[in-house]
Amino acid sequence: MHRNLPFGTPIIGAEERAAVQEVLAGPILVHGPRAVKFEEDFAAYTKALHAVSVSSCTAGMHLIWFTLGFGPGDEVIVPAQTHVATAHAVELTGARAVFVDCEHRTGNIDLSALETAITPKTRAIAVVHFLGLPVDMPQVMEIARKHKLFVLEDCALAVGSKLDGVHAGLMGDAGVFSFYPVKHMTTAEGGMVITRNAELATDLRLRKAFGVDRTHGERKIPGTYDVVALGYNYRMSELHAAIGIEQVKRIPGFLAQRERNYCALSNALTSVPGIGLLASSDIRFKSSYYCASVILDEAIAPLRPDIIGQLNVRGVGTSVYYPQPVPRMTYYREKYGWKDGSFPNAARISDHSIALSVGPHLTEDDMMYTADALQEVLKGLKS
Ligand SMILES: *Cc1c(COP(=O)(O)O)cnc(C)c1O
Repeated sequence: MHRNLPFGTPIIGAEERAAVQEVLAGPILVHGPRAVKFEEDFAAYTKALHAVSVSSCTAGMHLIWFTLGFGPGDEVIVPAQTHVATAHAVELTGARAVFVDCEHRTGNIDLSALETAITPKTRAIAVVHFLGLPVDMPQVMEIARKHKLFVLEDCALAVGSKLDGVHAGLMGDAGVFSFYPVKHMTTAEGGMVITRNAELATDLRLRKAFGVDRTHGERKIPGTYDVVALGYNYRMSELHAAIGIEQVKRIPGFLAQRERNYCALSNALTSVPGIGLLASSDIRFKSSYYCASVILDEAIAPLRPDIIGQLNVRGVGTSVYYPQPVPRMTYYREKYGWKDGSFPNAARISDHSIALSVGPHLTEDDMMYTADALQEVLKGLKS
């Protein structure tokens, strides 16, 4: 039986629709109670002290570097294997993204290479929990403390990722989440910063809303306020927050289904020759199971377009995370240059991997279908 298994589909129910309708029926579209409640609920879920809603993960990361005052002459260490947003957030301030390769086994930033990339200009480190697998944060923090660097965790794929029981985003100085449709939960567009640092949270609230000194509710005479700093408009609307409040309730169910799917798929793939999976073997590192990243062996890697095409014909949706090491993307290549053979582990993931979905819109039975399809396609190549 042929199936149609899209890589990612947002799961929006009657609750989200009703919540949006309720906002639309009222007068308050921004500056309302829903953004506040969403922040409280997300903080409660992650056990964060402070949560600040923003218009996207990219906006949240940019806001942090902007608020810290980074600019030309400053450097921030960024993994070569990530979404371009991690690097763009730095570059938007005029600071320089200094790229570091990833580990072969997990796709996470290579900690030994990280320390050698630090220069007197380095102000911060950005790490990405790659596909939801937590970075070894205690080691990152040890390096950061030694060199007095700020640490930002890009948690775009890390809702539910934990290290020693601590949620991703709480081990560095700040963590930033994405609620784009194919992530673990969605608000259509949206993001959240979590942090232990009260002063940083207050600064971010100021800077995400033009640098205005008091919120809408705090204005004694309507329409009166002062502006005490430069800032953006990176707020989240009440419509987006209303969806978020409902989606937070679904996180435990979403994550449980992802884990079941991931286990079923990875078990079914262990006996398949010619491939490997990015993973950690250490149970201290709890993944959010964003997807199963299948790495093709050297010999069949050049056939990837054909393999993907045949999987798609069988109804198995796929993706590639991420399609290029960021420094190889045209914008960065033209700015900083690119040498073939640099960032080999990041290049291997971009050039040799196929991302298979384990999303909560799929079942364990769909995972069997996916594994069978991949096995069939790979067998067909060799005959
Ligand atoms: C999706 C993604 C982003 C961008 O998130 P937006 O909310 O779309 O800005 C940033 N970093 C990583 C690792 C991502 O996967």
